[in-house]
Amino acid sequence: MAPELKKIDLLLSEKRIKLHIFEPSQRNIWTVVGTEKEYWFDPDLDFCSCPGYYFNNKCYHLDNFPLAMSQNQIESTTFSDDEYGPFIGSLLSEL
Ligand SMILES: [Zn+2]
Repeated sequence: MAPELKKIDLLLSEKRIKLHIFEPSQRNIWTVVGTEKEYWFDPDLDFCSCPGYYFNNKCYHLDNFPLAMSQNQIESTTFSDDEYGPFIGSLLSEL
């Protein structure tokens, strides 16, 4: 398998795209697990904090997001709103 396809395959089969839902407000945060760390990812804003997006405005996470959605290869987790602040804090500290 070509390296590019392998990356895409892992992205989907390992459900590296993660949806975090905060209750009861229903706020959503998306992240994607990269090779070295977890990135903040926002399909609505067409944004990803990975190096590919940063340097080239090109990101295979965003490119393959519709595919992951259509195949239901996304992991979603529910949190309480109390955890929203600390969650954002730890996410931003890694950027
Ligand atoms: Zn990305």
